[in-house]
Amino acid sequence: MRILVVEDEHKTASFIRKALQTEGLIVEVCPDGEAALAQCQTTRFDALVLDIMLPGRDGLSVLRELRLQGRQLPVLLLSARGEVNERVAGLNAGADDYLPKPFELAELVARLRALTRRGNESQTTILCVADLQLDTHTRQARRGRVEIQLTAREYRLLEFLMRSAGIICARMTLIEKVWDYDFDPGTNLVDVYIRRLREKIDAGFEVKLLHTVRGAGYLLKEPT
Ligand code: CA
Repeated sequence: MRILVVEDEHKTASFIRKALQTEGLIVEVCPDGEAALAQCQTTRFDALVLDIMLPGRDGLSVLRELRLQGRQLPVLLLSARGEVNERVAGLNAGADDYLPKPFELAELVARLRALTRRGNESQTTILCVADLQLDTHTRQARRGRVEIQLTAREYRLLEFLMRSAGIICARMTLIEKVWDYDFDPGTNLVDVYIRRLREKIDAGFEVKLLHTVRGAGYLLKEPT
């Protein structure tokens, strides 16, 4: 089990890390929100321990962004204040549990255990478009009986296209949602990745799923 601890206070982060490592968990620590989001893009974590008070992007905003991206991993929020309002805001933003500081490490461990147990039972989501399947928990893709290996970025591209199945995705939308750029880098980045993805999911199959809509974008859809 891999846990990401997002906490800027070095001492607290290090206490949490040690406690979780003692439990046999793999722990990564990240001191700020933007970096945590980036880490969640590239690494699959089983849970997040997320402090609300962070420099730059705060914990609630990180949490909202993760949920907007469709990431369902269990999140345990930490708060220095423990106010009722913050608790409600945290749960509304998609937190699974909430722990006010100061807390006992044993309680943190117990709550995290409870969250990950719950998570493992219900977390698996398999996206399907025709005979193409993507397991968002294990990140395994397959077309029919063929397993497909994807890089992290290819995975994000495919997941986004599958969640948007039947809808034309403009190049700029993909640049924003898959690469997190809010500007057009002016390269053929998207085209290159679409071509790679096509090689993996469509090449060798009679029925093609990934289509280019000239002048509009890309479309993943069930054959009609
Ligand atoms: Ca903090």
